[in-house]
Amino acid sequence: MQTGRTVLALAKDKRKKNKKKLYKLRKRRPYIALILFLITGILMITAMSMSVEVFTTVTLNSKLSGEQEKADLIASFIDSKEDMTLEELTGLLEPSGFDYVLKDSSGSIVAQRGEDTCALETESDYIPDFYGTGSVRFTSEDDDRTRTGFTYFEDSENKMLSFDKEGYVKVDLLLIFRTARKELKEKEILGSDPEEMAGKAASDVRSDFIRAPFWMSKELPNGMKLYLKAYIRASLPDVLFIIVLLIALIVIIAVMFFIMLFNVIGTITSQRRMTRLAFDDIVTKGHNRMWFTFKGDQTLRRRRNAWTPYAVADITFMNYRRFCSCHSLEEGESVLLSIQDKINEFLDKNELCSHSSDDSFALLLRMEDEPSLKNRIGQILHALETIDSEHSFTFHAGVSFIPPAEKVGLFKGRIDVDIDREYNNACTARASLEGSDSSSAAYFDDKFIEDQKWIDTVEELQQQALDNEEFIVYYQPKYDPRTNELRGAEALIRWQSPVHGFITPYKFIPIFEKNGFITNIDHYMISHAARDQRRWLDMGYECVPISVNVSRAHFIESDLAEQIRDMVDKEGTPHRLIEIELTESAFFDDKNAMINTIEKLKQNGFSVSMDDFGSGYSSLNSLKDMTLDVLKLDAEFFRGEQAGTDRGEKVVSEAIKLAKSLNMRTVAEGVEIKEQVDFLASQGCDMIQGYYFAKPMPGSDFEERMRRLDKAPEENK
Ligand code: C2E
Ligand code: CA
Ligand code: CA
Repeated sequence: MQTGRTVLALAKDKRKKNKKKLYKLRKRRPYIALILFLITGILMITAMSMSVEVFTTVTLNSKLSGEQEKADLIASFIDSKEDMTLEELTGLLEPSGFDYVLKDSSGSIVAQRGEDTCALETESDYIPDFYGTGSVRFTSEDDDRTRTGFTYFEDSENKMLSFDKEGYVKVDLLLIFRTARKELKEKEILGSDPEEMAGKAASDVRSDFIRAPFWMSKELPNGMKLYLKAYIRASLPDVLFIIVLLIALIVIIAVMFFIMLFNVIGTITSQRRMTRLAFDDIVTKGHNRMWFTFKGDQTLRRRRNAWTPYAVADITFMNYRRFCSCHSLEEGESVLLSIQDKINEFLDKNELCSHSSDDSFALLLRMEDEPSLKNRIGQILHALETIDSEHSFTFHAGVSFIPPAEKVGLFKGRIDVDIDREYNNACTARASLEGSDSSSAAYFDDKFIEDQKWIDTVEELQQQALDNEEFIVYYQPKYDPRTNELRGAEALIRWQSPVHGFITPYKFIPIFEKNGFITNIDHYMISHAARDQRRWLDMGYECVPISVNVSRAHFIESDLAEQIRDMVDKEGTPHRLIEIELTESAFFDDKNAMINTIEKLKQNGFSVSMDDFGSGYSSLNSLKDMTLDVLKLDAEFFRGEQAGTDRGEKVVSEAIKLAKSLNMRTVAEGVEIKEQVDFLASQGCDMIQGYYFAKPMPGSDFEERMRRLDKAPEENK
């Protein structure tokens, strides 16, 4: 079986988990999706460009080494043959296919094929080596590649390849594409003989579709300088493959970008929708309690707010349901809307307001100090009272203060704060105002916590206390003010707790009335009073009627009269010795049930009295409908401001007259001074129950006040 404590722990745990879920829901941002997409995107793009690069590098390098090998062959042939004549040289160069320029030692051209477009100012000592799509790196001299003493130059007309001194060659891809396009067009337009065109095109397609020229130069043994125009050639399929790869790359990037964009937009909108569903209030279109919990916690925990004292408040629109019934639900809801707007007018940027339930609003307020916050709450309540020109409303506010964080380290702030707990405290404070008809505010403090702890303690101990007979019956005698004779007594409960000592009824009766345990107490008191009476009768005392309080909560039971009769009969006590006291406020509950019970009690021979007459509820009407035996004038008549004044005395005297005219006896409660006793005696009050005569006392003391008869009279049996 689960104990109360484990149930509590489970509930706490569940609340914590729910809160975590809430945080997760709110915190899930589209960043993660975005980052994932970016990573995959980058990976894919890198893979694609790497494949393009590898392909291009391999292709270009193979072209380059083809040209170099050819040039190396010529160079090594020249190097091996000393004193070559010009004719021999040109004879060697002409069939090689290279355009060339031969210069003598003075720099004048002695032979050439094709134009001299060698750009001498960009000479490079490095051997070119393609290593990527966009650039060629020249390897340094210590490269193990065979070198036959060539120096490299750009072509001044065609800048598809451009060199720099650092050993880098840039390949101008744009120019290559432009040239390629021009070539394609020219081939179509200029072609005269279709067959020749086809053959040429076929050979172009094979190897020579694009030619990126550069120059290689070498000093000859005879002092001349040879310049060879070499080409990096790309065939049409090579170019097309690269183009297709590039287009595919662009398409993939574009597709990925759009997928990512749509995904992020989708995530953001669906999250917005989810957040709205979870946090928006349907009635006021503002925020709901869940939002308040989330936002409030976040605000309070923020490090920069750690030093600021805050307050959580609950403002409740009293009688909201009644207003809706009298007018309409729509009108009620529109008032709620105006309330929310009005409250918002009083809030600063970092303060929150949400519609927390039917008639309540939760607020998180920053506070400078207590007086200014109380002043603000007062202003809000005042503004709300007059929110509607046709009606005046009542609002109750409860406030719980949240002090600044005690320690503010680097990562510390208000870590222990729980906004739900604070809001609950504010509601507890507000609930203490119940019954008040005017707008007012209550502030949660340590007393509330103490009270709640006491309630818990009482509720934990109540049954055990009843079983162990820790409740003791005290008797407060009632005397005739004219003769000073004992006429009756009221049974009043006391709690002699082994843990908490002697406890007065004010500390536990209201708790029992709220939790319903009072009916057990009523039974207990009736039984014990009847038992004492029986014992005293048997001991030969002249017994007087003893009145017992019966709570209003008990009066809704239709067989109450029978229950009382059975309890008293069980002890064997004559019914005339037991009187039932009903509190005045009980006469408001169910009049017919009340009349019925009173009638049955009277038929059974019990007296019935109206307790606390004049304590606030006007029960004159009840006097008309119910035939009661005793009217107990409330102690307030003899304590209040009017006590002892002419007006006060008139009221008391008229009340006694009224009771007499209705054939009721009167008991004045709370009488403490002789003047009051004399006055009441002069007015014909039948009995006085007050400290003047006696305080409530244990049964043994009361026993001494009763007259012992030598012989129990016949009627007592
Ligand atoms: P009550 O029924 O109005 O009881 C009268 C209270 O006034 C008693 O307080 C009594 O001690 C007090 N009192 C009487 N004369 C004077 C006086 O001259 N001066 C002052 N200052 N006080 C006087 P007590 O016994 O503390 O009971 C308080 C309330 O607790 C009772 O008010 C009654 O409402 C409730 N209560 C006490 N015992 C029981 C019980 O057995 N059952 C129920 N249902 N309620 C009980
Ligand atoms: Ca009473
Ligand atoms: Ca009373």
